[in-house]
Amino acid sequence: MLKKLIRNLRKPRNAAEPKGQQLPYAEHGLSLDLFSRNAISVTTRLQEAGYQAFLVGGCVRDALLGERPKDFDVATSATPEQVRGVFRNSRIIGRRFRLAHVLFGRETIEVATFRSNHTTHDAASGRAAQDSSGRILRDNVYGTLEEDALRRDFTVNALYYDPSDRTLHDFAGGISDLHKRTLRLIGDPETRYLEDPVRMLRAIRFAAKLNFDLPAETAQPIKRLAGMLADIPAARLYEEALKVFLNGSAEDSFDLMQQYGLFAPLFPFSAKELEQDPDYCATLVRLALRSTDTRLAEGKTVTPAFLFAALLWPALLPLMAQYQAEGLAPVPAIQKAAHKLLPMQLQHVAIPRRFTVPMQEIWALQERLPYRYGRRAETVLANPRFRAAYDFLLLREDAGEDTGNLGQWWTEYQFAPEPDRRRMVSELSGPVRKSRRPRKRKSRSSSRGGKTQ
Ligand code: ATP
Ligand code: MG
Repeated sequence: MLKKLIRNLRKPRNAAEPKGQQLPYAEHGLSLDLFSRNAISVTTRLQEAGYQAFLVGGCVRDALLGERPKDFDVATSATPEQVRGVFRNSRIIGRRFRLAHVLFGRETIEVATFRSNHTTHDAASGRAAQDSSGRILRDNVYGTLEEDALRRDFTVNALYYDPSDRTLHDFAGGISDLHKRTLRLIGDPETRYLEDPVRMLRAIRFAAKLNFDLPAETAQPIKRLAGMLADIPAARLYEEALKVFLNGSAEDSFDLMQQYGLFAPLFPFSAKELEQDPDYCATLVRLALRSTDTRLAEGKTVTPAFLFAALLWPALLPLMAQYQAEGLAPVPAIQKAAHKLLPMQLQHVAIPRRFTVPMQEIWALQERLPYRYGRRAETVLANPRFRAAYDFLLLREDAGEDTGNLGQWWTEYQFAPEPDRRRMVSELSGPVRKSRRPRKRKSRSSSRGGKTQ
Protein backbone atom coordinates (compact mmCIF):
# COMPACT_ATOMS: atom_id res chain seq x y z
CA MET A 1 0.00 0.00 0.00
CA LEU A 2 2.69 2.40 1.15
CA LYS A 3 4.92 1.32 -1.70
CA LYS A 4 2.16 2.04 -4.16
CA LEU A 5 1.69 5.50 -2.69
CA ILE A 6 5.41 6.23 -2.96
CA ARG A 7 5.38 4.97 -6.53
CA ASN A 8 2.50 7.24 -7.45
CA LEU A 9 4.13 10.22 -5.78
CA ARG A 10 7.34 9.48 -7.64
CA LYS A 11 5.72 9.06 -11.02
CA PRO A 12 7.79 11.33 -13.25
CA ARG A 13 5.85 14.52 -13.69
CA ASN A 14 7.22 15.22 -17.12
CA ALA A 15 6.51 11.71 -18.43
CA ALA A 16 3.75 12.33 -20.94
CA GLU A 17 0.67 10.30 -20.20
CA PRO A 18 0.82 7.36 -22.60
CA LYS A 19 -1.55 7.59 -25.54
CA GLY A 20 -2.94 4.60 -27.36
CA GLN A 21 -5.28 2.09 -25.79
CA GLN A 22 -5.00 1.22 -22.12
CA LEU A 23 -6.63 -1.93 -20.88
CA PRO A 24 -7.24 -2.48 -17.17
CA TYR A 25 -6.91 -5.96 -15.67
CA ALA A 26 -10.64 -6.64 -16.04
CA GLU A 27 -10.26 -6.43 -19.81
CA HIS A 28 -7.20 -8.60 -20.33
CA GLY A 29 -7.12 -10.82 -17.24
CA LEU A 30 -3.40 -11.41 -17.57
CA SER A 31 -2.13 -13.47 -14.66
CA LEU A 32 1.02 -12.26 -12.94
CA ASP A 33 1.91 -15.89 -12.31
CA LEU A 34 3.09 -16.22 -15.89
CA PHE A 35 5.78 -13.61 -15.35
CA SER A 36 9.09 -14.07 -13.64
CA ARG A 37 9.20 -12.57 -10.15
CA ASN A 38 12.56 -11.09 -11.01
CA ALA A 39 11.17 -9.33 -14.08
CA ILE A 40 8.32 -7.90 -12.01
CA SER A 41 10.72 -6.74 -9.31
CA VAL A 42 12.87 -4.99 -11.94
CA THR A 43 9.91 -2.95 -13.20
CA THR A 44 8.74 -2.20 -9.66
CA ARG A 45 12.14 -1.02 -8.47
CA LEU A 46 12.64 1.16 -11.54
CA GLN A 47 9.24 2.73 -10.93
CA GLU A 48 10.09 3.29 -7.28
CA ALA A 49 13.22 5.09 -8.43
CA GLY A 50 11.02 7.44 -10.47
CA TYR A 51 11.26 5.93 -13.95
CA GLN A 52 8.66 4.45 -16.27
CA ALA A 53 9.12 0.70 -16.67
CA PHE A 54 7.09 -2.03 -18.36
CA LEU A 55 7.32 -5.66 -19.34
CA VAL A 56 7.37 -5.71 -23.12
CA GLY A 57 7.69 -7.78 -26.28
CA GLY A 58 7.56 -11.54 -26.54
CA CYS A 59 6.84 -12.12 -22.85
CA VAL A 60 3.64 -10.04 -22.90
CA ARG A 61 2.59 -11.53 -26.24
CA ASP A 62 3.17 -15.11 -25.12
CA ALA A 63 1.49 -14.57 -21.74
CA LEU A 64 -1.59 -13.15 -23.45
CA LEU A 65 -1.64 -16.31 -25.57
CA GLY A 66 -1.59 -18.35 -22.38
CA GLU A 67 2.02 -19.54 -22.82
CA ARG A 68 4.67 -19.26 -20.16
CA PRO A 69 7.29 -16.87 -21.59
CA LYS A 70 10.86 -18.13 -21.66
CA ASP A 71 12.59 -14.81 -21.26
CA PHE A 72 11.61 -11.34 -20.13
CA ASP A 73 12.35 -7.93 -21.53
CA VAL A 74 11.79 -4.67 -19.71
CA ALA A 75 11.51 -1.26 -21.40
CA THR A 76 12.19 1.83 -19.33
CA SER A 77 12.69 5.58 -19.46
CA ALA A 78 15.92 5.13 -17.45
CA THR A 79 19.19 5.20 -19.38
CA PRO A 80 21.45 2.15 -19.04
CA GLU A 81 23.62 4.10 -16.56
CA GLN A 82 20.55 4.96 -14.49
CA VAL A 83 19.48 1.30 -14.53
CA ARG A 84 23.00 0.42 -13.38
CA GLY A 85 22.52 2.94 -10.55
CA VAL A 86 19.36 1.16 -9.36
CA PHE A 87 20.67 -2.41 -9.54
CA ARG A 88 24.03 -3.45 -8.14
CA ASN A 89 23.48 -6.83 -9.80
CA SER A 90 23.53 -5.32 -13.29
CA ARG A 91 25.94 -4.64 -16.09
CA ILE A 92 25.81 -2.64 -19.29
CA ILE A 93 26.27 -4.54 -22.52
CA GLY A 94 26.57 -3.63 -26.19
CA ARG A 95 28.42 -0.71 -27.69
CA ARG A 96 25.98 0.60 -30.26
CA PHE A 97 22.75 -0.54 -28.63
CA ARG A 98 23.52 -0.14 -24.98
CA LEU A 99 21.33 -2.28 -22.76
CA ALA A 100 21.42 -3.22 -19.12
CA HIS A 101 21.31 -6.81 -17.95
CA VAL A 102 20.04 -7.34 -14.44
CA LEU A 103 21.36 -10.64 -13.16
CA PHE A 104 19.52 -12.95 -10.76
CA GLY A 105 21.45 -16.20 -10.51
CA ARG A 106 20.73 -18.02 -13.74
CA GLU A 107 18.11 -15.56 -14.91
CA THR A 108 18.97 -12.38 -16.77
CA ILE A 109 16.41 -9.64 -17.30
CA GLU A 110 17.18 -7.45 -20.28
CA VAL A 111 16.39 -3.80 -19.67
CA ALA A 112 16.30 -1.48 -22.68
CA THR A 113 15.84 2.26 -22.67
CA PHE A 114 12.95 3.59 -24.78
CA ARG A 115 14.29 4.29 -28.25
CA SER A 116 12.84 6.03 -31.25
CA ASN A 117 13.01 5.18 -34.91
CA HIS A 118 14.93 8.10 -36.33
CA THR A 119 14.66 7.42 -40.00
CA THR A 120 16.11 10.51 -41.56
CA HIS A 121 19.17 11.38 -39.61
CA ASP A 122 20.82 10.73 -36.34
CA ALA A 123 19.97 13.68 -34.12
CA ALA A 124 23.15 13.41 -32.09
CA SER A 125 25.70 13.06 -34.88
CA GLY A 126 23.79 14.59 -37.78
CA ARG A 127 24.86 11.61 -39.91
CA ALA A 128 22.48 9.62 -42.06
CA ALA A 129 20.81 6.90 -40.00
CA GLN A 130 19.98 4.78 -43.04
CA ASP A 131 21.81 3.50 -46.08
CA SER A 132 20.62 4.04 -49.65
CA SER A 133 18.27 1.02 -49.53
CA GLY A 134 16.59 2.23 -46.34
CA ARG A 135 18.44 -0.05 -43.93
CA ILE A 136 18.74 1.37 -40.46
CA LEU A 137 22.39 1.89 -39.57
CA ARG A 138 21.93 3.51 -36.19
CA ASP A 139 19.14 2.84 -33.81
CA ASN A 140 20.45 4.31 -30.61
CA VAL A 141 18.40 7.47 -30.17
CA TYR A 142 16.45 7.48 -26.94
CA GLY A 143 12.76 8.23 -27.16
CA THR A 144 9.42 8.20 -25.38
CA LEU A 145 7.29 5.22 -24.52
CA GLU A 146 5.09 5.75 -27.56
CA GLU A 147 8.08 6.16 -29.88
CA ASP A 148 9.53 2.99 -28.45
CA ALA A 149 6.32 1.14 -29.28
CA LEU A 150 6.24 2.37 -32.87
CA ARG A 151 9.84 1.35 -33.65
CA ARG A 152 9.05 -2.29 -32.79
CA ASP A 153 8.43 -4.79 -35.56
CA PHE A 154 4.97 -6.37 -35.20
CA THR A 155 1.91 -4.97 -33.49
CA VAL A 156 1.69 -8.02 -31.21
CA ASN A 157 5.28 -7.36 -30.10
CA ALA A 158 4.52 -3.78 -29.09
CA LEU A 159 2.37 -4.45 -26.02
CA TYR A 160 3.53 -3.04 -22.68
CA TYR A 161 2.42 -4.41 -19.36
CA ASP A 162 2.73 -2.59 -16.08
CA PRO A 163 2.58 -5.27 -13.38
CA SER A 164 2.09 -2.67 -10.60
CA ASP A 165 -1.26 -1.37 -11.79
CA ARG A 166 -1.85 -4.30 -14.18
CA THR A 167 -2.54 -2.01 -17.12
CA LEU A 168 -1.80 -3.15 -20.63
CA HIS A 169 -0.73 -0.41 -23.06
CA ASP A 170 -1.36 -0.92 -26.74
CA PHE A 171 -0.12 1.73 -29.17
CA ALA A 172 -0.37 -0.16 -32.44
CA GLY A 173 -3.50 -2.29 -32.36
CA GLY A 174 -1.62 -5.34 -31.09
CA ILE A 175 -4.45 -6.64 -28.89
CA SER A 176 -6.88 -6.86 -31.75
CA ASP A 177 -4.26 -8.54 -33.99
CA LEU A 178 -3.43 -10.97 -31.22
CA HIS A 179 -7.06 -12.00 -30.96
CA LYS A 180 -7.20 -12.38 -34.73
CA ARG A 181 -3.93 -14.31 -34.57
CA THR A 182 -2.47 -12.20 -37.31
CA LEU A 183 1.03 -10.81 -37.75
CA ARG A 184 1.00 -7.22 -38.86
CA LEU A 185 3.98 -4.91 -39.14
CA ILE A 186 3.77 -1.48 -37.57
CA GLY A 187 3.77 0.99 -40.46
CA ASP A 188 4.47 0.27 -44.11
CA PRO A 189 5.65 -3.36 -44.43
CA GLU A 190 8.12 -2.78 -47.24
CA THR A 191 9.72 0.18 -45.44
CA ARG A 192 10.02 -1.85 -42.25
CA TYR A 193 11.63 -4.79 -44.08
CA LEU A 194 14.01 -2.45 -45.86
CA GLU A 195 14.98 -0.88 -42.52
CA ASP A 196 15.86 -4.29 -41.16
CA PRO A 197 15.59 -7.33 -43.46
CA VAL A 198 15.83 -9.70 -40.47
CA ARG A 199 12.19 -8.81 -39.79
CA MET A 200 11.29 -11.08 -42.73
CA LEU A 201 12.80 -14.04 -40.90
CA ARG A 202 11.10 -12.96 -37.72
CA ALA A 203 7.78 -12.87 -39.59
CA ILE A 204 7.98 -16.50 -40.68
CA ARG A 205 9.35 -17.56 -37.29
CA PHE A 206 6.44 -16.03 -35.40
CA ALA A 207 3.92 -17.30 -37.96
CA ALA A 208 5.24 -20.84 -37.50
CA LYS A 209 5.74 -20.70 -33.74
CA LEU A 210 2.55 -18.91 -32.77
CA ASN A 211 0.48 -20.47 -35.53
CA PHE A 212 -0.41 -16.96 -36.68
CA ASP A 213 -1.68 -15.91 -40.04
CA LEU A 214 0.64 -14.01 -42.38
CA PRO A 215 -1.72 -11.53 -44.06
CA ALA A 216 -0.99 -10.52 -47.64
CA GLU A 217 0.53 -7.16 -46.74
CA THR A 218 3.02 -8.86 -44.39
CA ALA A 219 3.80 -11.79 -46.69
CA GLN A 220 3.71 -10.27 -50.11
CA PRO A 221 6.91 -8.13 -50.08
CA ILE A 222 9.04 -10.96 -48.66
CA LYS A 223 9.72 -12.94 -51.85
CA ARG A 224 10.89 -9.77 -53.58
CA LEU A 225 13.07 -8.56 -50.70
CA ALA A 226 14.38 -11.91 -49.39
CA GLY A 227 17.75 -11.44 -51.10
CA MET A 228 18.49 -8.50 -48.80
CA LEU A 229 19.27 -10.97 -46.04
CA ALA A 230 22.52 -11.67 -47.87
CA ASP A 231 23.86 -8.34 -46.55
CA ILE A 232 23.14 -9.05 -42.90
CA PRO A 233 26.21 -9.89 -40.80
CA ALA A 234 26.73 -13.66 -40.54
CA ALA A 235 26.88 -13.52 -36.74
CA ARG A 236 23.38 -12.04 -36.56
CA LEU A 237 22.03 -14.57 -39.06
CA TYR A 238 23.49 -17.36 -36.95
CA GLU A 239 21.54 -16.08 -33.93
CA GLU A 240 18.38 -15.83 -36.02
CA ALA A 241 18.90 -19.28 -37.56
CA LEU A 242 19.12 -20.77 -34.07
CA LYS A 243 15.88 -19.03 -33.07
CA VAL A 244 14.16 -20.27 -36.24
CA PHE A 245 15.28 -23.87 -35.87
CA LEU A 246 15.17 -24.25 -32.09
CA ASN A 247 11.77 -22.75 -31.37
CA GLY A 248 9.86 -26.01 -31.54
CA SER A 249 8.36 -25.26 -34.98
CA ALA A 250 11.43 -25.77 -37.11
CA GLU A 251 9.74 -27.86 -39.77
CA ASP A 252 6.98 -25.31 -40.36
CA SER A 253 9.53 -22.50 -40.28
CA PHE A 254 11.62 -24.30 -42.90
CA ASP A 255 8.60 -24.75 -45.17
CA LEU A 256 7.80 -21.05 -44.90
CA MET A 257 11.44 -20.13 -45.48
CA GLN A 258 11.45 -22.21 -48.64
CA GLN A 259 8.12 -20.79 -49.73
CA TYR A 260 9.29 -17.20 -49.34
CA GLY A 261 12.85 -17.60 -50.58
CA LEU A 262 14.40 -17.02 -47.15
CA PHE A 263 16.35 -20.27 -46.96
CA ALA A 264 18.68 -19.57 -49.90
CA PRO A 265 20.25 -16.35 -48.52
CA LEU A 266 21.22 -18.23 -45.35
CA PHE A 267 22.18 -21.59 -46.83
CA PRO A 268 22.85 -20.94 -50.52
CA PHE A 269 24.81 -24.16 -51.18
CA SER A 270 22.20 -26.42 -49.64
CA ALA A 271 19.38 -24.46 -51.29
CA LYS A 272 20.81 -25.28 -54.70
CA GLU A 273 20.90 -29.01 -53.98
CA LEU A 274 17.43 -28.92 -52.39
CA GLU A 275 16.10 -27.63 -55.65
CA GLN A 276 17.88 -30.23 -57.74
CA ASP A 277 17.11 -33.24 -55.59
CA PRO A 278 14.12 -32.41 -53.40
CA ASP A 279 13.22 -36.08 -52.88
CA TYR A 280 16.30 -36.91 -50.89
CA CYS A 281 17.68 -33.54 -49.73
CA ALA A 282 14.49 -31.80 -48.68
CA THR A 283 13.24 -34.97 -47.01
CA LEU A 284 16.46 -35.30 -45.04
CA VAL A 285 16.33 -31.69 -43.86
CA ARG A 286 12.65 -31.85 -42.97
CA LEU A 287 13.08 -35.10 -41.03
CA ALA A 288 15.99 -33.60 -39.09
CA LEU A 289 13.89 -30.56 -38.22
CA ARG A 290 10.89 -32.71 -37.33
CA SER A 291 12.95 -34.76 -34.91
CA THR A 292 14.33 -31.53 -33.40
CA ASP A 293 10.76 -30.33 -32.84
CA THR A 294 9.77 -33.67 -31.31
CA ARG A 295 12.78 -33.73 -29.00
CA LEU A 296 12.06 -30.18 -27.81
CA ALA A 297 8.40 -31.03 -27.23
CA GLU A 298 9.54 -33.96 -25.08
CA GLY A 299 11.84 -31.69 -23.08
CA LYS A 300 14.98 -33.34 -24.49
CA THR A 301 18.12 -31.47 -25.44
CA VAL A 302 19.12 -30.80 -29.03
CA THR A 303 22.50 -29.87 -30.34
CA PRO A 304 22.88 -27.25 -33.04
CA ALA A 305 25.80 -29.35 -34.37
CA PHE A 306 23.45 -32.13 -35.46
CA LEU A 307 21.00 -29.66 -36.89
CA PHE A 308 23.56 -27.77 -38.96
CA ALA A 309 25.19 -31.06 -40.02
CA ALA A 310 21.82 -32.04 -41.52
CA LEU A 311 21.10 -28.61 -43.03
CA LEU A 312 24.45 -28.65 -44.81
CA TRP A 313 24.59 -32.33 -45.78
CA PRO A 314 22.98 -31.67 -49.19
CA ALA A 315 25.75 -29.18 -49.96
CA LEU A 316 28.46 -31.60 -48.83
CA LEU A 317 27.39 -34.44 -51.14
CA PRO A 318 28.47 -33.03 -54.51
CA LEU A 319 31.84 -31.97 -53.10
CA MET A 320 32.41 -35.44 -51.64
CA ALA A 321 31.52 -37.02 -54.94
CA GLN A 322 33.88 -34.71 -56.73
CA TYR A 323 36.83 -35.50 -54.43
CA GLN A 324 36.15 -39.23 -54.62
CA ALA A 325 35.99 -39.01 -58.39
CA GLU A 326 39.40 -37.37 -58.22
CA GLY A 327 40.69 -40.46 -56.40
CA LEU A 328 40.39 -39.66 -52.68
CA ALA A 329 39.19 -42.38 -50.30
CA PRO A 330 35.80 -41.73 -48.64
CA VAL A 331 37.03 -40.41 -45.27
CA PRO A 332 39.59 -37.93 -46.66
CA ALA A 333 37.07 -36.95 -49.34
CA ILE A 334 34.39 -36.05 -46.79
CA GLN A 335 36.95 -34.19 -44.67
CA LYS A 336 38.16 -32.22 -47.66
CA ALA A 337 34.56 -31.48 -48.67
CA ALA A 338 33.89 -30.09 -45.18
CA HIS A 339 37.03 -27.93 -45.35
CA LYS A 340 35.86 -26.52 -48.63
CA LEU A 341 32.21 -25.99 -47.70
CA LEU A 342 32.45 -24.58 -44.18
CA PRO A 343 34.48 -21.40 -44.85
CA MET A 344 32.08 -20.53 -47.68
CA GLN A 345 29.00 -21.25 -45.57
CA LEU A 346 30.31 -19.37 -42.52
CA GLN A 347 30.30 -16.17 -44.54
CA HIS A 348 26.50 -16.41 -44.54
CA VAL A 349 25.77 -17.96 -41.15
CA ALA A 350 28.60 -17.78 -38.63
CA ILE A 351 28.25 -21.16 -36.92
CA PRO A 352 30.76 -21.10 -34.05
CA ARG A 353 33.69 -23.50 -33.87
CA ARG A 354 32.23 -25.33 -30.91
CA PHE A 355 29.62 -26.64 -33.35
CA THR A 356 31.56 -26.88 -36.61
CA VAL A 357 34.07 -29.26 -34.98
CA PRO A 358 31.44 -31.84 -33.90
CA MET A 359 29.63 -31.35 -37.24
CA GLN A 360 32.76 -32.46 -39.06
CA GLU A 361 33.10 -35.44 -36.74
CA ILE A 362 29.50 -36.48 -37.40
CA TRP A 363 30.13 -36.20 -41.14
CA ALA A 364 33.45 -38.08 -41.10
CA LEU A 365 31.86 -40.87 -39.06
CA GLN A 366 29.32 -41.39 -41.84
CA GLU A 367 32.19 -42.74 -43.91
CA ARG A 368 33.63 -44.72 -40.99
CA LEU A 369 30.39 -46.50 -40.09
CA PRO A 370 30.56 -48.82 -43.13
CA TYR A 371 34.09 -50.04 -42.24
CA ARG A 372 33.62 -52.59 -39.52
CA TYR A 373 36.29 -55.30 -39.91
CA GLY A 374 38.68 -56.21 -37.09
CA ARG A 375 38.53 -53.74 -34.23
CA ARG A 376 37.09 -50.95 -36.36
CA ALA A 377 33.50 -51.36 -35.24
CA GLU A 378 34.58 -51.18 -31.58
CA THR A 379 36.63 -48.05 -32.27
CA VAL A 380 33.70 -46.33 -33.97
CA LEU A 381 31.34 -47.35 -31.16
CA ALA A 382 33.73 -45.86 -28.58
CA ASN A 383 33.84 -42.54 -30.41
CA PRO A 384 32.10 -39.86 -28.31
CA ARG A 385 30.14 -38.80 -31.41
CA PHE A 386 28.94 -42.32 -32.19
CA ARG A 387 25.39 -41.68 -31.00
CA ALA A 388 24.99 -38.53 -33.09
CA ALA A 389 26.60 -40.19 -36.10
CA TYR A 390 24.33 -43.24 -35.76
CA ASP A 391 21.24 -41.01 -35.53
CA PHE A 392 22.50 -39.21 -38.61
CA LEU A 393 22.87 -42.51 -40.47
CA LEU A 394 19.25 -43.39 -39.61
CA LEU A 395 18.20 -39.97 -40.84
CA ARG A 396 19.88 -40.59 -44.20
CA GLU A 397 18.11 -43.94 -44.47
CA ASP A 398 14.76 -42.42 -43.52
CA ALA A 399 15.29 -39.87 -46.29
CA GLY A 400 15.48 -42.73 -48.77
CA GLU A 401 19.17 -43.49 -49.01
CA ASP A 402 20.13 -47.12 -49.49
CA THR A 403 23.04 -47.85 -47.15
CA GLY A 404 22.78 -51.63 -47.42
CA ASN A 405 20.96 -51.91 -44.08
CA LEU A 406 23.85 -50.33 -42.22
CA GLY A 407 21.54 -48.68 -39.69
CA GLN A 408 19.96 -52.00 -38.76
CA TRP A 409 23.42 -53.57 -38.33
CA TRP A 410 24.55 -50.81 -35.97
CA THR A 411 21.28 -50.93 -34.06
CA GLU A 412 21.90 -54.60 -33.30
CA TYR A 413 25.62 -54.29 -32.76
CA GLN A 414 25.57 -51.57 -30.13
CA PHE A 415 23.20 -53.54 -27.88
CA ALA A 416 24.66 -57.02 -28.56
CA PRO A 417 26.79 -58.88 -25.98
CA GLU A 418 30.48 -59.34 -26.76
CA PRO A 419 30.37 -62.82 -28.43
CA ASP A 420 27.52 -61.75 -30.71
CA ARG A 421 29.44 -58.65 -31.69
CA ARG A 422 32.44 -60.78 -32.73
CA ARG A 423 30.13 -63.01 -34.75
CA MET A 424 28.47 -60.04 -36.44
CA VAL A 425 31.86 -58.71 -37.54
CA SER A 426 33.05 -62.11 -38.74
CA GLU A 427 29.86 -62.56 -40.78
CA LEU A 428 30.42 -59.36 -42.74
CA SER A 429 30.68 -60.26 -46.36
CA GLY A 430 31.76 -56.92 -47.75
CA PRO A 431 29.38 -56.36 -50.63
CA VAL A 432 29.94 -53.33 -52.75
CA ARG A 433 28.12 -50.46 -51.07
CA LYS A 434 24.95 -49.24 -52.68
CA SER A 435 24.92 -45.76 -54.10
CA ARG A 436 24.00 -42.88 -51.80
CA ARG A 437 21.47 -41.52 -54.21
CA PRO A 438 19.48 -44.30 -55.75
CA ARG A 439 17.88 -41.99 -58.24
CA LYS A 440 18.66 -39.63 -61.07
CA ARG A 441 22.15 -38.34 -60.41
CA LYS A 442 24.27 -41.10 -61.87
CA SER A 443 27.42 -39.02 -62.19
CA ARG A 444 27.63 -38.32 -58.45
CA SER A 445 26.36 -41.51 -56.98
CA SER A 446 28.34 -43.79 -59.26
CA SER A 447 31.52 -42.48 -57.71
CA ARG A 448 30.37 -43.59 -54.27
CA GLY A 449 30.97 -47.30 -54.54
CA GLY A 450 33.20 -47.85 -51.48
CA LYS A 451 33.35 -51.31 -49.89
CA THR A 452 30.89 -52.01 -47.09
CA GLN A 453 32.94 -53.95 -44.66
P1 ATP B 1 11.02 -14.53 -28.68
O1 ATP B 1 11.94 -14.06 -27.58
O2 ATP B 1 9.88 -15.37 -28.26
O3 ATP B 1 11.74 -15.09 -29.82
P2 ATP B 1 10.47 -11.73 -28.94
O4 ATP B 1 9.37 -11.00 -29.64
O5 ATP B 1 10.63 -11.50 -27.48
O6 ATP B 1 10.30 -13.24 -29.30
P3 ATP B 1 13.15 -10.73 -29.13
O7 ATP B 1 14.16 -10.96 -30.19
O8 ATP B 1 13.42 -11.24 -27.76
O9 ATP B 1 11.79 -11.34 -29.68
O10 ATP B 1 12.87 -9.18 -29.09
C1 ATP B 1 12.14 -8.54 -28.06
C2 ATP B 1 11.28 -7.42 -28.64
O11 ATP B 1 12.13 -6.45 -29.27
C3 ATP B 1 10.33 -7.86 -29.75
O12 ATP B 1 9.12 -8.36 -29.22
C4 ATP B 1 10.13 -6.57 -30.51
O13 ATP B 1 9.25 -5.72 -29.85
C5 ATP B 1 11.52 -5.94 -30.44
N1 ATP B 1 12.35 -6.33 -31.61
C6 ATP B 1 13.21 -7.36 -31.69
N2 ATP B 1 13.81 -7.42 -32.88
C7 ATP B 1 13.32 -6.40 -33.59
C8 ATP B 1 13.56 -5.89 -34.91
N3 ATP B 1 14.41 -6.49 -35.72
N4 ATP B 1 12.87 -4.79 -35.30
C9 ATP B 1 12.01 -4.17 -34.47
N5 ATP B 1 11.74 -4.59 -33.23
C10 ATP B 1 12.38 -5.68 -32.77
MG1 MG C 1 12.22 -12.29 -26.24
